Amino acid sequence: MDAQDVGTDLERVLLTKEQIAARVQELAAELDRDYAGKDVLLVGVLKGAVMVMADLSRAMRIPVAMDWMAVSSYGSGTRSSGVVRILKDLDADISGRHVLVVEDIIDSGLTLSWLLANLSSREPASVRVCTLLRKPDAAKVHVDVAYVGFDIPNEFVVGYGLDFADRYRNLDAVGTLAPHVYS
Ligand code: 5GP
Ligand code: MG
Ligand code: MG
Repeated sequence: MDAQDVGTDLERVLLTKEQIAARVQELAAELDRDYAGKDVLLVGVLKGAVMVMADLSRAMRIPVAMDWMAVSSYGSGTRSSGVVRILKDLDADISGRHVLVVEDIIDSGLTLSWLLANLSSREPASVRVCTLLRKPDAAKVHVDVAYVGFDIPNEFVVGYGLDFADRYRNLDAVGTLAPHVYS
């Protein structure tokens, strides 16, 4: 689904399909260099990271394993609280392995911060984060993110895996929604 298909629900396209694809290729090349010869496990955080995981992993030239986690962040309304519950844990044992967490977006950083502490306690060889999007102005806690696709303004975005009420995930671009969608 592209921006035209979404029609008037979309306010503004922030990143086109082409811009995303080009940046994902660059990130993949960087990861290929950094992880050459290593046992890498990509950990995708459901559901938002599905698109970036699929495209990033296929753009990589080194072999990787993939696993998934689903977490839910308790909080009031749409705010992340940092209190996290695991809905689906990893299938894989990560001890001694090089883990790369693949995220759609880092907003406050609270969910990711919890996740990194949780994964680190399982004694992997290393844990790093790759995120397609990051909102620097929304950060509430510092998280070291080794690979960032794009820094974006502090606005609510949808597309390329990111949803509003579980919709717009299959939009091939990233954009903001028109106010009439929320009300
Ligand atoms: P954090 O703990 O960093 O505040 O929360 C990160 C999660 O909140 C993301 O994985 C995503 O599910 C959701 N989120 C944060 N910002 C946005 C946004 O702009 N659009 C959408 N669709 N979800 C967001
Ligand atoms: Mg996410
Ligand atoms: Mg969501």
